[in-house]
Amino acid sequence: LMERYESLGLVGEGSYGTVLKCRHRDSGRLVAIKKFVDSDDDKTVKKIALREIKLLRQLRHDNLVNLLEVWKRRRRWYLVFEFVERTLLDDLEQNPNGLDLNTSRQYLYQILRAAAFCHQQHVIHRDIKPENILISQGGVVKLCDFGFARTMTSSSEGGVYTDYVATRWYRAPELLVGDTKYGKPVDVWAVGCLLIEMLTGQPLFPGDSDLDQIYHIVRCFGNLTAHHQELFYRNPVFSGVRLPECSGRVPLEERFPSVNTTALDLAQSCLQMDPEKRTQCSELLEHPLFTQDSFHIRYLCLC
Ligand code: ADP
Repeated sequence: LMERYESLGLVGEGSYGTVLKCRHRDSGRLVAIKKFVDSDDDKTVKKIALREIKLLRQLRHDNLVNLLEVWKRRRRWYLVFEFVERTLLDDLEQNPNGLDLNTSRQYLYQILRAAAFCHQQHVIHRDIKPENILISQGGVVKLCDFGFARTMTSSSEGGVYTDYVATRWYRAPELLVGDTKYGKPVDVWAVGCLLIEMLTGQPLFPGDSDLDQIYHIVRCFGNLTAHHQELFYRNPVFSGVRLPECSGRVPLEERFPSVNTTALDLAQSCLQMDPEKRTQCSELLEHPLFTQDSFHIRYLCLC
């Protein structure tokens, strides 16, 4: 158990626990140990911990963080992961004007591989954002934090989900208006936001409230779909609030004239207001951004 590891310090503090960098005393291997807060008093923590453990055991992929070991002691769950050096957030902080096209493309490709794999396993990640994208020294991307992820009940339309709050800036319109029937396209939206942020260094839609978040989106892409407008007006959270009207749209290509047009095209296919119109991750892996100069063939040779 914990005695077999030497603690080297705190690497992250989440809502449901802390992440420590540790060294396995015998092997010298570096790991990240996620220690959940006391889980018996708090049903939500228990649910999140158990869900994360179940999903991580089910999801094994080169671009997902690898769970090595799990135990429970004194009513706390401990999850041991391979240690990964940095996150995309660190890269973005060190490059305030964004990453170069080739680096962004390499990261994006791996993020899409991870998401496509989850989706193929009927899992929606639901919280794709820079802090949850780990990057190893060799530039290998590992998606982490499956605390919010969930398995879809039956078909892609099926389930109704309510217990969910993700980071606002990467939230799709359907989540902002409170649609309880959302699916894989929420991850595609987040990937679109992430791509622009990688290329420019600026968060695409940095809303400071849910309403402001919708305002940012509408200013770029125009009005919400009729269905999303209806959900907005039916949502008690927004009672008495008018939807922001779209006047003076500033589309992506106008806001970011210097961003590569092929990359912008990929972002556009992720950032469709209607979730049904967003391209699936598996299909995005075939986008010209990756096929154009045999990038993906070179990528596959590295694996
Ligand atoms: P929470 O669900 O509590 O937010 P996360 O799983 O997101 O916890 O982890 C919190 C932070 O810890 C991450 O954003 C990341 O910076 C760091 N972290 C998580 N897993 C690892 C890992 N395997 N290696 C290195 N750092 C990690």
